[in-house]
Amino acid sequence: MAEAEIPKAYAPQDVEPRWYASWEKAGYFTAPQTGANPFCIVIPPPNVTGSLHMGHALNNTLQDTLTRWHRMKGDATLWMPGTDHAGIATQNVVERELLKKEKIRRHQIGREALIDRIWKWKDQYGDRIISQLKAIGSSCDWTRTRFTMDEGLSKAVRENFVRLYDDGLIYRGKYIVNWCPRCQTALADDEVEHEEKKSHLWHIRYPYVDNPKDGITVATTRPETLLGDTAVAVNPKDDRYQNLIGKQVTLPETGRSIPIVGDDFVDASFGSGAVKVTPAHDPNDFQIGQRHNLPQLNIMNADATIADTAPEKYRGLKREDCRNQLLQDLTDHGYLVKTEDHTHSVGHCYRCHTVVEPWLSDQWFVKMQPLAKMAIAATKNGKVNFHPKRWTDFYLSWLENVRDWCISRQIWWGHRIPVWYCQAGKNCKPIVATMDPEKCPHCGSTALEQDSDVLDTWFSSALWPFSTLGWPDKTPELETYYPTSVLITDRGIIFFWVARMVMMGMYHMKKEPFKDVYINGTVLDKFGRKMSKSHPETCIDPLDIVARYGADAMRYALVQLTTEGQDIALDEQKFEVGRNFCNKIWNAARFIQMQEASAIAGDAIELSFADKWILNRLHHAIHRITTALENYTFDDVAKTLYDFVWRDYCDWYVESIKPILQGPDSIAKKSTMATMRQVFLTALQLMHPVMPFISEELWQSLGGEGSVMVSAFPMLNAPAPYAPEAQDFELMKSVVSVMRNVRGEYQVPPSQKVDAVFKSTPSEQKILLAQLDYIQRLGGIDNWSAVGADAVFDNTTAVAVVSQGIELGFPGLVDIEKEKVRLNKAIDNLKKMVKSVEGKLANKGFVDRAPADVVAKERERLAQNCAELSKLEDAYKRLL
Ligand SMILES: [Zn+2]
Ligand SMILES: [Zn+2]
Repeated sequence: MAEAEIPKAYAPQDVEPRWYASWEKAGYFTAPQTGANPFCIVIPPPNVTGSLHMGHALNNTLQDTLTRWHRMKGDATLWMPGTDHAGIATQNVVERELLKKEKIRRHQIGREALIDRIWKWKDQYGDRIISQLKAIGSSCDWTRTRFTMDEGLSKAVRENFVRLYDDGLIYRGKYIVNWCPRCQTALADDEVEHEEKKSHLWHIRYPYVDNPKDGITVATTRPETLLGDTAVAVNPKDDRYQNLIGKQVTLPETGRSIPIVGDDFVDASFGSGAVKVTPAHDPNDFQIGQRHNLPQLNIMNADATIADTAPEKYRGLKREDCRNQLLQDLTDHGYLVKTEDHTHSVGHCYRCHTVVEPWLSDQWFVKMQPLAKMAIAATKNGKVNFHPKRWTDFYLSWLENVRDWCISRQIWWGHRIPVWYCQAGKNCKPIVATMDPEKCPHCGSTALEQDSDVLDTWFSSALWPFSTLGWPDKTPELETYYPTSVLITDRGIIFFWVARMVMMGMYHMKKEPFKDVYINGTVLDKFGRKMSKSHPETCIDPLDIVARYGADAMRYALVQLTTEGQDIALDEQKFEVGRNFCNKIWNAARFIQMQEASAIAGDAIELSFADKWILNRLHHAIHRITTALENYTFDDVAKTLYDFVWRDYCDWYVESIKPILQGPDSIAKKSTMATMRQVFLTALQLMHPVMPFISEELWQSLGGEGSVMVSAFPMLNAPAPYAPEAQDFELMKSVVSVMRNVRGEYQVPPSQKVDAVFKSTPSEQKILLAQLDYIQRLGGIDNWSAVGADAVFDNTTAVAVVSQGIELGFPGLVDIEKEKVRLNKAIDNLKKMVKSVEGKLANKGFVDRAPADVVAKERERLAQNCAELSKLEDAYKRLL
């Protein structure tokens, strides 16, 4: 094996694209159709309009880490990729482009032409996010890439609609919806963003029909909807109004008579205690209207201008203008009683931020309660488990209070609702079908018109875990990979997506769509602000980080920061940590190659003390990393890699074996070289899931067999080897660490050797003497001697404690005068501290009022300080 020499510096930009292309070409990402121990993750499909942000980078790094690990374990592994058509978002992008470049609006170009344009846009730009996912190393099975509007998924969507409809779980109804007058579409409850707004509460008098001089005063935050009032409501238990129920009042500015009704919903303590009822323009009023059989008078057009159902004077006005005009008229005619300041919550469209109008319209709905019941049971029975656990309650409480889901959208881009209306005028029932019907089954007419609305985007992504595997067909993939193993996603879409996938999975497949749901943290900037496109200063672009630090450095940093789904405050410095780690790994590999160790692929014949220790450490590292991956404690994976590679391997092991490598004993040398190389290759396997590129590059450079990506992940089937030797090595390490500390404390330059005295019991003495070579060399010791446990060091000897029973003395290191000054200073400081804690504890107020554990802690601190003080005072006395 003649491997190319590893270049001096690591240049990820040269290495990463090369390996990605090679893996893809080799077909390593491609999942088998069937196989043992299936492991499957479905990607949260990014929007086709999307471009990779740090949230994606984090989310996909975690998915890739698990995927690569399972693949290496030999599990049948599928990471299913794809993109979402993202209805309104995509249509908006193309519409905006059309308006900007060609000055055309969608109604001018028409439905078919616009859809055509969107497909073209999708073909051109829709895969951008996929190439970005590749740049960060995502090992998705791209041969299976799906799109929520591809042929198969469209078939699944229709099947879903028809089954739900046939089961009575989809219905069409007049319903008050959240209407965006700009997007001209209904929005789901969770697509409405609420904001506190300072406004007014207007008190308006409605005169009694039989006594116009007197009247009832209602309080409202939206006076313009007065035009659509069909009643006034009071609480039937309210003594002030009880006897008015049933009376008629005149609606100001309209001349219409409307009744006063009694309804428990009315809060007697709010405003005047009487409210106007506008069933077509307020969700609560809609409910009151249903209870009292009130007419629903829609006074607004789709664009929120006033409709022809209102008095002529107001028709065509914008809702804001109508409000002003109406307030003016009410004032002029003496109906406006008073105006109060009032802050209330106003809903805005999550896409365009226009104020949402509650609006009555024909919509399609999914009846949620029966579906939610199944989803709740799945979690309560332990079939769908959230990590971290705290998200369980959040999820369940939403499901328990869920409202019916409005699934129709008045846009063009999306799955058109599979319902056709017969135009023959014979009152035929609507046709709901998976295939486009040719004629009306009731009257035979071929004049059919399909519902013009499209389905909410989440209606298709709710099927993602099984539609992507071939459902409604029974495919081998569906059989093998459903239920999938784990979903990794963001808390922002627990309701939108996670809950709906569980509902649809339980409904269609009778099995949960995934066993685990890992909710990753939100990526924040270093000041703890959410990264958002509208505030570019908060954003760190992952592709920019890849270009500057390498994908592995970025992935390592993100994994390292992933603690129990906590939010991540990201700072560029964190990527430097990743880059430094990559450089350390790179240099270790170069060191191995320089020893020509890679040319010796043989087995270790004779293990040195250090070899045994590193093999023991390796065993623990494998155990910790495996456990961490099993439990989604990602930060521990990163930490263990760092500790093992940097601390154990580079700092201690490589330093320890240098004399063997440079020594004359060729058998020992060969043997250690083999261990050194083998342990490093295993470390590359351990790091591969997190840092795929550098591990592959070095695996190949050091002559590892095949590709590390498909090598077998290290498994443990025996207890940790060489435990006693490892324990002795640890003792040696602490001795050397203490020596290094003392050298630092007394500012001994690294080039200068010192003398040392070991003071210990005979048994420990034996262990230390056996490792004298290491201790002398690593600790920079010249002459050494050993004394018994009861020996006393003189004034000029610097003394350090290694552990119970072992002390190290460094004769001549102490300059008595300097040491006196140092000790004096330390004693003074400690005395001050002791005095302050004593004062605190003497204060009865503190001792009586502070919690018991706080007082106990202070007492403990005092005792520690006193002990330390007497130690320093003894040391000082010894110098005199
Ligand atoms: Zn909007
Ligand atoms: Zn018909």
